[in-house]
Amino acid sequence: MERLDLKVGFECNNKCHFCVQGDKRYKFAPKSLEELQKSLADNRKDIDSVVFTGGEPTMHPHFLELVKTARDLNYRKIQIQTNGRMFANENFARAAVEAGANEYSPAIHGPNAEIHDWLVQAPGAFKQGIRGIQNMKKLGVPVVVNSVLVRPNYRHLPQTAQLMVALGVSQFQFAFVHALGTAAKYFQMIVPRKALCEPFVKKGIDIGLRGGIFVMTEAIPYCFMEGYEKYVAEQYIPRTRIIDAKFVVEDYTEYRWNEGKLKGEPCRQCAYNDICEGPWREYPEFFGWEEFKPRSSKSDVA
Ligand code: SF4
Repeated sequence: MERLDLKVGFECNNKCHFCVQGDKRYKFAPKSLEELQKSLADNRKDIDSVVFTGGEPTMHPHFLELVKTARDLNYRKIQIQTNGRMFANENFARAAVEAGANEYSPAIHGPNAEIHDWLVQAPGAFKQGIRGIQNMKKLGVPVVVNSVLVRPNYRHLPQTAQLMVALGVSQFQFAFVHALGTAAKYFQMIVPRKALCEPFVKKGIDIGLRGGIFVMTEAIPYCFMEGYEKYVAEQYIPRTRIIDAKFVVEDYTEYRWNEGKLKGEPCRQCAYNDICEGPWREYPEFFGWEEFKPRSSKSDVA
């Protein structure tokens, strides 16, 4: 396995309309420091890269100590996947880096406070997220930004890409919403049609590339990515073991292929069938397969 995804708990200071974890924050208490340290030590036997996730990992009362434990165990890469709000505090950002964080992955879901703050239901979150990126850049940490692609923001992807270029992030990624948890509850309001997103996604990628930034997309199959196949993230996502609340996903890639995602009738005649994971299954289960047009030939993949 190449990476450990350690969910430290499900507390969060945002309430995103598209949160896949739904109401887990009310069901599971944060894991204890001892339990998490044991997970870090046990998994270090065969993995040297860890990403702290949740919920919001910085809400864990022992967050900095956990990062330090990962460093003491010689994890090579220590990524923080976060809503980024805590990192607006320069002292906190510095403490996280001093503890060992060496890759920063915040979430920005739009080009301005109006869109972002509404999506995450937290006034001031956008401003804090941007300040966090600036702080971590100043500290010399690579910044990999994630934007969840949803109905209220997809038309603004090009402007979001422009913002990423202006901020000088190392990489950004558009991840198509996975309709689980809160996103399932608000499905009609939140899940856009992939075919409508396609031109905005491609424009966003062009803007990023022109600005010298590495851009990726997630959960957007190759039939919506003609000419942009090499930006499909699933080709590069490291094999990941997920330690969730009460269970372990041994291999997230296998989970996506076998359970999370789905193939349909059009895929049978598609040139990308062998490497494409298909969409998250909830999408065609609701909208059907009409939009999915099989590709006649393969080109330009990684
Ligand atoms: S295999 Fe299916 S989902 Fe994937 S690109 Fe082809 S038609 Fe689209």
